[in-house]
Amino acid sequence: MEYLPISLRLKDEPVVLVGAGTVATRKARLLLRAGANLTVVAPEITPELETLLVGHGGIWQPSAYRESDLHGQKLAVAATPDRATNEQVYRDACALNIPVNVVDAPQFCTFIFPSIVDRSPLTVAISSAGRSPVLARFLRRRIEATLPAAYGRLAEWAGRMRQRVKQHVPAETPRRLLWESVIEGGIAEQVLAGNEQRAEEMLATRLQEAGEAACGEVYLVGAGPGDPDLLTFKALRLLQSADTVLYDRLVSPGIVDMARRDAERIYVGKRRADHSLPQQDINRLLVDLALQGKRVIRLKGGDPFIFGRGGEEIELLAAHGIPFQVVPGITAASGAACYAGIPLTHRDYAQSVRFVAGHLKDGKLEHDWSRFEATNETLVFYMGLVGLPVICAQLQAHGRPGSTPAALIERGTLAEQRVIAGTLSTLVDLVEREQPRAPTLLIIGDVVRLHDRLRWFGAG
Ligand code: SAH
Repeated sequence: MEYLPISLRLKDEPVVLVGAGTVATRKARLLLRAGANLTVVAPEITPELETLLVGHGGIWQPSAYRESDLHGQKLAVAATPDRATNEQVYRDACALNIPVNVVDAPQFCTFIFPSIVDRSPLTVAISSAGRSPVLARFLRRRIEATLPAAYGRLAEWAGRMRQRVKQHVPAETPRRLLWESVIEGGIAEQVLAGNEQRAEEMLATRLQEAGEAACGEVYLVGAGPGDPDLLTFKALRLLQSADTVLYDRLVSPGIVDMARRDAERIYVGKRRADHSLPQQDINRLLVDLALQGKRVIRLKGGDPFIFGRGGEEIELLAAHGIPFQVVPGITAASGAACYAGIPLTHRDYAQSVRFVAGHLKDGKLEHDWSRFEATNETLVFYMGLVGLPVICAQLQAHGRPGSTPAALIERGTLAEQRVIAGTLSTLVDLVEREQPRAPTLLIIGDVVRLHDRLRWFGAG
């Protein structure tokens, strides 16, 4: 970030503006609106600026610029038609450590004026760091159009209620939750409609209820198979509102990064045979955090209800009467297959698809293998890397030809995605040679043939 946007309090502070032409007049208007104690230094002045100064108690100093004009000033702006004077103001201000802006000369600015959407006390500032003021103004117009004028009134009203809410709800998290529900709900609507009295009464009722212990909420959210772009809008919205984020190895760092900056992040691990936090502890943690009044998001790779133990995590929440929501995500089979150009069903090759758990229990895979013999069904094995030799051997022993196409997709949908394609009789050796890294997904059936034809540019 080249410039840090900050909001500066200028009310009754001395500010000097060197120059008094039309550009200077624009800046003067802005500075006076912020309540600055403005001195304009210029031998001549436009009638418009003079009137403005008279109306706001500003001072015109009818002389050429001198270094001493900067003394005691909080901020300096130069907008004369003379480059040398402007640059002199810049150099003098730098020497005196006074923030300075030379209009339309970013190289002579220690601060810049953003484009402003003014709904005072609410303001939105947009800056392109001097690169494209036109783009910044274009965006400002768009925001202007979407921000109801009454938001200023809402901010003002919220400011008046702030202390009262703080007294009733001293703890920070429940207080923020309360404010969020006020701003997004019917109370704010009343203020926007001009019924501030009614809004205040509604708030009073809400504060009374809040006195009784507030309980948080848990969102069990599918984060998709890896590519952050595959997140749903709902997942993103909840992620950006949650106080605490629980995630495991299957959730991309890029997705965890989208959480609120101040949100607490808790890694609950889970590598095969290295369960960082046992499942019961995760279940318990969700309950405890919610009881502390937190809004908790539990991110699951893929879809929470597909081999995600999502059901177990919400069972305990339900038992404690804790409110929760479950948000679906794109499951690995769907994501990896699309990115690899393997349609899971196809009129010519497969009329059904089956998702199967491929992990071994005590070195064995307990499936009724005879169920998998139909050649017009695509099989997708999750967690099947270690059991791959068993899976390939059992399928062949139960009627699937050794020539059946099979592919292992490594790190599906991520930039590192790789597809190792072969057949039931060749895949084990291929995988042995290629040594793919988890997570991997195994797809078996004639649809795998299409991979060569349908994979798009860049797909593994
Ligand atoms: N709930 C998840 C699955 C969890 S089980 C979902 O709906 O996708 C974990 C298994 O999912 C892994 O062993 C692997 O087989 C599969 N998997 C998850 N993400 C994957 C990815 N990006 N690429 C390939 N396989 C993946």
